[in-house]
Amino acid sequence: MSFAALEEAVRDARNIAIVGHGKPDSDCIGSVVGTALYLRAVYPDAVVIPLLEDFHEKFGILEGAKEARQELPEGFTPDLLIVCDCSEAYRIGAGSELAEAGIRTVVIDHHATNAGFGDEAVVRPESSSTCEVLFTLMDHEKISKDCAACLYAGIVGDTGVFRHSCTSPATMRVAASLMEYGINAHAIIRATYDLHSFAENQILGAVLSSAVTALDGQVVFGTATRQMMAECGVTPKHLDGIVDHLINVVGVKAAVFMYETEPGVFKASLRSGEEIAVSEAAKAFGGGGHLRAAGCTLAMGAPEARYRLTQVLGSLLKESGGQAK
Ligand code: 5GP
Ligand code: MN
Repeated sequence: MSFAALEEAVRDARNIAIVGHGKPDSDCIGSVVGTALYLRAVYPDAVVIPLLEDFHEKFGILEGAKEARQELPEGFTPDLLIVCDCSEAYRIGAGSELAEAGIRTVVIDHHATNAGFGDEAVVRPESSSTCEVLFTLMDHEKISKDCAACLYAGIVGDTGVFRHSCTSPATMRVAASLMEYGINAHAIIRATYDLHSFAENQILGAVLSSAVTALDGQVVFGTATRQMMAECGVTPKHLDGIVDHLINVVGVKAAVFMYETEPGVFKASLRSGEEIAVSEAAKAFGGGGHLRAAGCTLAMGAPEARYRLTQVLGSLLKESGGQAK
């Protein structure tokens, strides 16, 4: 499969909107903006608009990210919608109304829980990231340096800098090819993954020092309430990566980081090691994701959310008998 194979959909389009999931992360930003830069190069007559919710200022290192808009220009009616890195239509962030507008829709994703909505879908759960999928769909001669930087940032984000189990030999080959476009790979990793603001470190410290364990230390919960976030001066876009500190603890088999989005509503990020599939736990609460990285929303107080998640994670640990599914 390639963009050429999707050509009928893409070639005839004049006004293309590209969207991703809400609270965009590296892979979402990289794939939405990377696709826009690529399509503008291949189809110079088309108007291509990447639409994304507000995202972290650190992505300013990606030249292309400056092209992203939160709303379509007035009078712009897309004849093609491309949905990147989004497992279900309801998870689309900026431009979500377009999914209901009967526009021809192409979905490009790597979530196993993506059942393939839209008119055409390329969903590859074996790929580390949507950005990795995209590179294999693109004509490599038409990829610009700015596009390559976007795709590289997305792969870096979803693989945790090539460390998570989703990193395959194919992922490394794609990353190596992207480096050949002259991108500053080191600077992209440092800016989008390693560096944090002082306020982000403060909230990280607050979450870690108030974390609690369950099931003999096999499960750990970190929580950021609205009050904690206000005290540290951060918003949800500044919380990425906290859950990784919780899972990287000896003996922890599942980690949950929850932050309060509105009073009594918590968004949960789940991570696991080899033993269990946290996507199953997320699904039990209407969410989803990958085997070892998933998420869901819980409309209840923090103690009840921890209690109910502990029950579900406990059953999964029991069933697993120590093996990943
Ligand atoms: P994160 O914890 O980094 O926000 O998300 C981890 C993974 O779970 C991502 O692949 C993300 O797309 C998925 N995910 C997070 N929240 C939800 C959710 O509410 N519903 C679904 N279906 N997937 C989610
Ligand atoms: Mn992704």
